[in-house]
Amino acid sequence: MIKCGKMMKPTKTLVEIEHFNVQEMKWDDKRQLVEFQIDEKPFGKGTFRAAFMANSSHNLFKGKKWVVKKYHKQTVDDLKDLDLDPYQHGRKQVQMHSLAKNLAESFTRSITSIEFGTVSYNEVYFGILDGEVVTVEEFASGKFVKYVNNNGEICKNVDKHGQSKAEAFVHFTYQKSEEKLMVLDIQGCGKTYFDPEIATGEHFDDQGELLFCGGNLSQTAIKNFKHLHQCNKFCSDLLLTPFKDGDNQASEKNTESE
Ligand SMILES: [Zn+2]
Repeated sequence: MIKCGKMMKPTKTLVEIEHFNVQEMKWDDKRQLVEFQIDEKPFGKGTFRAAFMANSSHNLFKGKKWVVKKYHKQTVDDLKDLDLDPYQHGRKQVQMHSLAKNLAESFTRSITSIEFGTVSYNEVYFGILDGEVVTVEEFASGKFVKYVNNNGEICKNVDKHGQSKAEAFVHFTYQKSEEKLMVLDIQGCGKTYFDPEIATGEHFDDQGELLFCGGNLSQTAIKNFKHLHQCNKFCSDLLLTPFKDGDNQASEKNTESE
């Protein structure tokens, strides 16, 4: 009985969940209250946010592991430098992830050879938890691999198949967007990528708003990738146009050994 005299935290937490519809380029009107059981301690920390494992018995979320990302207290000040607050940043993160997911689906559909396999991004949602902004992402398990940095630099991986596919995906996003943007920061576990960044040709829109997020290094990143990437069998399969000779004079080419 004496336990009742102590403050006890509920084991489950309600998160108000919103989904971004990338086909219609708008947020779904319907918001859902979803109960999650969220770990007290984070399993990872990034520049702006900490990641907590979570699970839920809700129809949409049960049977999978989820990652709830919460903003650090000091992030509010850091985001001010980008003219953003966590509410705007969280929405932009989900919109960016949703666009990358949509492009990955298009990439997978466009590949003609089954042996090439697929790439995908998991589902991601915007949420409000105890009045604070969070994102809720499906957890991807397996060995973490980084393929391309957000500054357009190419990583050197022993897994040439995975590396070539990741680079072809970046090239594909640039061509598919008519050279308006490039999905970068390609990393993930197995064929599941997460935490993308998008570099845009124009860094800001007409009203001076930063396009996508702080990881958008615009032309610097795009030029870097165009300079370093050498087209591979995936690019050929997708009929991607090789970058001009002037863009392709990298000293460090990631060549594929077949
Ligand atoms: Zn290519």
